[in-house]
Amino acid sequence: MGLPARLSFLLLVLAASAGLRAQPAPVVATPGFGSIDLLAHLELLEDPEGRLDLASVMASTGFTGMPARGGNFGFSGSTWWVRFAVHNPGGERIELLLRQDYPLIDDLRAHIGDGAGGFRTIATGDQVPFERRELDLRNFVFGVSVPAGATVPVYLRFATTGTMDISLHLHEPAALFGLVGVEQLAYGMYYGGFLALIVYNLFIFIAVRDRVFFWYLLYAVVFGLHFAVHNGFAFQFLWPAQPTWANQSLVVLLGLSLVFALQFTRGFLDAARVTPRMDKAAIVLQALAMAIVLGSFVLPYARVIVPIAVVTALVTGLILAMGTWAMAKGYRPARYFMLAWAAMLFTVFAYMLKAFGLLPHNTFTQNGFQIGSLLEMTLLSVALAARVRDLQRHSFSDPLTNLLNRRSFDQHLELEFIRATRNRTPVSLLMVDIDHFKRFNDQHGHAAGDQAIQAVAKQLRRSVRQGDVVCRYGGEEFAAILPGASCPDAAMVAEKIRASVAQVRVAGQSLSVSVGVACSVDAPYEDADELFRTADEALYEAKASGRDRVVQHGKRQAAPRPGTVAEGPPQ
Ligand code: GH3
Ligand code: MG
Ligand code: MG
Repeated sequence: MGLPARLSFLLLVLAASAGLRAQPAPVVATPGFGSIDLLAHLELLEDPEGRLDLASVMASTGFTGMPARGGNFGFSGSTWWVRFAVHNPGGERIELLLRQDYPLIDDLRAHIGDGAGGFRTIATGDQVPFERRELDLRNFVFGVSVPAGATVPVYLRFATTGTMDISLHLHEPAALFGLVGVEQLAYGMYYGGFLALIVYNLFIFIAVRDRVFFWYLLYAVVFGLHFAVHNGFAFQFLWPAQPTWANQSLVVLLGLSLVFALQFTRGFLDAARVTPRMDKAAIVLQALAMAIVLGSFVLPYARVIVPIAVVTALVTGLILAMGTWAMAKGYRPARYFMLAWAAMLFTVFAYMLKAFGLLPHNTFTQNGFQIGSLLEMTLLSVALAARVRDLQRHSFSDPLTNLLNRRSFDQHLELEFIRATRNRTPVSLLMVDIDHFKRFNDQHGHAAGDQAIQAVAKQLRRSVRQGDVVCRYGGEEFAAILPGASCPDAAMVAEKIRASVAQVRVAGQSLSVSVGVACSVDAPYEDADELFRTADEALYEAKASGRDRVVQHGKRQAAPRPGTVAEGPPQ
């Protein structure tokens, strides 16, 4: 026997043994069995044309066992028949419930034997109005009544344009009630979480008026609805009388969620400014997703499902690229953003593999995506909070030194002046300017100049007390507001700043500052502006009289510390 002959013999033996494979045993429904997964008891028949009727299927010899990984065939053009038998070994009739766990089957027909050769036929599916269901449940449930000692055959016919996911369990009624109770609680928690995020961010949107929150809201609403469709709740509770829309809504909501996710991402990462090219790509994908959404109104489901899957993959890739880019550019809120998408992506990937029939239907593949989506929404909400914090920080602080900026200086000065006047307490103001900084920049370059500014800012922060307000007033000019500081206190702080800066070396060169001090006791200045002008004049005098020194002007002059304070004329 040559090799080809031996091979064909081997194939023959394999084929024969497959044909001889024992029929699965009927399910033995001993009272108290609770729930049973029918996978091992099912036989499967593919009907590519979808033309077979019950009689021809019953006569067919084409039935095989179910694939070991389960009854998920992904997108399949065929109609599929499954059959099993239930045996009641007891002396009394039993009532059982048969449940198909994936609710998005277009056309599902159950032929349930009566134990005497007859059949009861129930035609359902999500193309049929919801009210025609025997039981008001999101999944398909059929009653199976088995007379004492009888064996009842059950045939089910599945036809659908979406994912063909055959997942059947047989339950005693009490067991199914318990299971449904737990499931409803879990889904209630899930949708409750979504709702809480939506309401919470709605209020923040009203308060903050940041448009990105609005895109987040739309994304969350549409995405949440998409899952409600997927779980069968939307059909049950939201549009039970519109089976056509119930089927179409999955693609429409998925497409819209892509549009809003991109819109959110573009706003969140400020993409038009930060990465204009990827922003343009995002707009193109948004247009594509919108086109598919509109297309779904005229094209059959089977024609839009592949394009939407492709666009989903592209959108996911683009969002990740945009987030990575922003993170690389040091935009801190992008970190939460990326974490959110990573959590989601892992589960989306698993779900996609399931949808195409490459992974089995199980608790993780069916629900992991959903858990991932809630995790994503929560983390995106955290990312939004981080963004608001970041925006706030930027509007009040100076990015180079992290000191307060000019704008908050003006506010603080006004506030401290009013407070001092009301409480009759002193308030002092220091204006600090780096000496000959232009020269320093020219000699050592702008980068070293920035380092020098940071070094001086550090000494300023160190030299003041808690509660004092330190700002970067302008380029190399700083200001410190010292609430409650008398003239001698202020002079002492000013000298401390001058002396500590004199110790600093940047690019091998020492620095010096001039400080102008205005101090007031019992707030004798007219207004905050006068206090400021006085400090500025003192600074000018310090520059004019040789730099690297402190000049103090006070309305009620206090004794200066000898040798440290050059006095200006009392006003
Ligand atoms: P004076 O002792 O009279 O204050 O002399 P000066 O050279 O320090 O004064 P001037 O105000 O003429 O020059 C300030 C220089 O500070 C000009 C500008 O190039 C530089 N400068 C302002 N802001 C920055 C900054 O953010 N980084 C750097 N590296 N340099 C800055
Ligand atoms: Mg200067
Ligand atoms: Mg200057």
